[in-house]
Amino acid sequence: MNSKLVVGNWKMHGSRASNDPLLAAVAGARPFGCAVAVCVPFPYFADVAAAWRGSELLWGAQDCSAHEQGAFTGEVSAAMLSEFGCRFVIVGHSERRQFHQESDQLVADKAKAALAKGVTPIVCVGESLAQREAGETEHVVKRQLSAVIHTLAHCAGEMVVAYEPVWAIGTGRTASPEQAQAVHAVLRTQLRAATAHADRMKILYGGSVKADNAGSLFAQPDIDGGLIGGASLNAEQFIAICHAAG
Ligand code: PEP
Repeated sequence: MNSKLVVGNWKMHGSRASNDPLLAAVAGARPFGCAVAVCVPFPYFADVAAAWRGSELLWGAQDCSAHEQGAFTGEVSAAMLSEFGCRFVIVGHSERRQFHQESDQLVADKAKAALAKGVTPIVCVGESLAQREAGETEHVVKRQLSAVIHTLAHCAGEMVVAYEPVWAIGTGRTASPEQAQAVHAVLRTQLRAATAHADRMKILYGGSVKADNAGSLFAQPDIDGGLIGGASLNAEQFIAICHAAG
C-alpha cells in the first residue's frame, strides 16, 4: 500500500437505506492500495462501524466541538467521537467557515480538541474565487494553516491538511493538477518550517474530484490523496477514485 489517503465527505447526505449498499460496495472493491475513509453524519457512526468492522477501511466525522464538555447544546465533543472509534474529523470545511462563521482560531481549537482525544483532524483550507482572482490565494491558505500550526505547536505534524479551493467545491470546476500542486507546495513549505514531519504529512486535494480527473491530481508530488464530496456518494465513482490513488 502506498501512503495516499482518500476520504469521502458525505456532508448532510445519506439514509440508512442508501448507506448500506454504498458501504458494502466500497468494502467489496478492496484492496485499494491506499488508505480509504468516509466522514459521515453523526447518526450513522454505528452503521459504518458495523459495516466496515474487521476491515482496514476507516471512518470519521465532519465536525466536532472545540470544548471538552458542558452546556453546549447540539455540539458533539471529540471524546464522544473517540468513544465510537472515529478515526478522523474534518474541521474548517469551507461550508462551516461560510455558513457557521467559523474563524481560523475556532478551527484551530477544534483541531487541538480532536488530537487531544486521539482523533486525527483533517484541516481544510482554501480560497474563494474572489480571493484567487485578487491574487490572494497563498496569503489566505497560509493564514488559515498558520492558526492551526501555532495552536497545535509540537503536535502540528499529526494533522492531515486538505486544500479545498472554495470555487471548486461542488461546482464541477476542478483546480488543474498544476494549480493544485502549486498551492500544495506552498503548504508543504509552511509545514516544513513548523515540523520535522512535514514530508510524511498528508496534504489532500478536494474540489470536484471525479474518477476521470483523480489520477492526474494524485500524480502531483505534493498531492497525497483526496477529500471527495459529491463523488463519494456514488459507489462507482468513489471506488474508481480510490483505485486511482492506489
Ligand atoms: C468537499 O465538500 O469536501 C468536496 C470536495 O466536495 P466536492 O467533491 O463535491 O467538490
